[in-house]
Amino acid sequence: VLTQAEWIERAKAVLPAGGFGNFDASYFVREGKGSRVWDEDGKEYVDLLIGSGPMMLGHGHPEVVEAVLEQVPKGMTFFANNHSGVELAEEICRAVACAEKVRYVSTGSEADMYAMRLARAFTGRDKILKFEGGYHGMGPEAQMSLAPTRLVNFPQAVPDSAGIPEGVRADMLIAPYNDPDYLESLCAEHGKDIAAIIIEPLQRIVPAQPGFLQAVRDICDKHGIVLIFDEVVTGFRFGYGGAQERYGVTPDLATLGKVIGGGFALAAIAGKADIMACFEKGSDKWLMQVGTLSGNPVAAVAGLKTMEILRREGAYEKISDNGKRLMAMASKALDARGVPHVVAGAPEMFEVIFTDRDITNYRDVVAADAKKLAAYNTVLRDKGLFKSDGKTYISLALTEEDMDIAKAAYEAAAEAVAN
Ligand code: PMP
Repeated sequence: VLTQAEWIERAKAVLPAGGFGNFDASYFVREGKGSRVWDEDGKEYVDLLIGSGPMMLGHGHPEVVEAVLEQVPKGMTFFANNHSGVELAEEICRAVACAEKVRYVSTGSEADMYAMRLARAFTGRDKILKFEGGYHGMGPEAQMSLAPTRLVNFPQAVPDSAGIPEGVRADMLIAPYNDPDYLESLCAEHGKDIAAIIIEPLQRIVPAQPGFLQAVRDICDKHGIVLIFDEVVTGFRFGYGGAQERYGVTPDLATLGKVIGGGFALAAIAGKADIMACFEKGSDKWLMQVGTLSGNPVAAVAGLKTMEILRREGAYEKISDNGKRLMAMASKALDARGVPHVVAGAPEMFEVIFTDRDITNYRDVVAADAKKLAAYNTVLRDKGLFKSDGKTYISLALTEEDMDIAKAAYEAAAEAVAN
C-alpha cells in the first residue's frame, strides 16, 4: 500500500498539475461509505463535497448499489434505447415543471452547450446572454472569449460598464446578476438578436433576489428569448422539482446533471416540446446531437433509484435541516469571535464568505477575503471536513456524529481566522 504522498508523486508524473481537473491535486479519496470518505493515508473525513454534488444519498447507498449490480451483468451500454432511460425521462418530466421532452448527454457542460445551441436553432438568432460569475460548464458556447488560451480565465469575467468585457466574442452579452433594470436595457437594445438567457437560479452561492427570476422570465417573454435555467446543481437538490419549483418560475429549457446519474456520467437537457423538437431529424431547424454513452442503463438505474429514495417522506426536509444546522454552527462560531462574514447560498449548498457586505452578485464574492477563506478551509479539512473552496454540499447520509465533528471543526477554523 502506497502513502498519499507517493500517490501524489505518481499522479504528477502522468497528469497535468497532478490532477484530474482544475482542483486541488492533494485531494485523494481511496474510499467512500455513507457520509464519510477516507484518503490514501486512511484519514477519515465527513464528506461535504459529495463528488461536487451528485452523491445526495452519500456513498454506496445499499439500494443504489443493488440496482447497479443488477444491471451491470445485463450490459452497460448499447447505443440503443433501453427501458430504464425511458423511465428516467418520464420521472424527469413528472418532477421538473418545464420538462416535456428530455435529451441525454454525459456531462453538465454538454447539456449547457446543447441547450444554447438549441436556443439558437429554435430562434434563428445568435447572441447568448449570461450573467457575471455564471458557470455553465466548459463547452465553447459557455465561453466568452474567442481566444482558446484564455477560455479558462474567462467564464467568470467581470464586464466593464457597457456590459461587455474586453475581448469577449461578439455573440455574447453579460449582465450583472440581480439587476433587472440593467438586463432590461441590454435586452431593449439587443433583444431581437438574443437567442437565450442562461442563468443559474441560485448562482453558485448567490441567491436570486425575490422577483429577479420572474423579471428575467418577463423580459424573455417580451423579446421572444429562450430562457434556460442551468439546474445542473439545483436540479433534484432544491427539492424534487429543483429551483424552478422552489422559486415558482418556469424556464423554457433546463439543464440537469449531477444527481440524475446517481454518481455516473449522465446529464440532460429537459424542456418545452416545441424547442426540443429541433433535435428531431427532418425538422427545418434540425440540430444534430448524439453521444456514445448517452442514457446508458447503468447510469439510468442509479439515477432512478436515487430519485426514488429522495421522493420518500422527509428526505429533503432532513437535507435542508442538516444544512441549516451547519450554517448556524459556522456562523455562531464566527460571531462569537467577532469575525465579519456571510454564510451565503442555501441550506442544501452554501459557503462561508469573509466580507462585511451583502452577497448579491459575483462582484461581492470577488471582493471578499479569499485568503481568509482558504485558511479557514484548511483548518476545516484538517479537522475532518472534506470540502473544496467552492461550496459545502449536504447529503442525506449525514449523522449526529457528523454534526458533532462539524461543530468542533467550525469552532477551530473560526478560532484560526480570528487571530
Ligand atoms: N453548470 C453548473 C451550474 C455547474 O455547477 C456545473 C459543474 N459544477 C456545470 C454546469 C458543468 O457540469 P459538468 O461538470 O458535469 O460538466
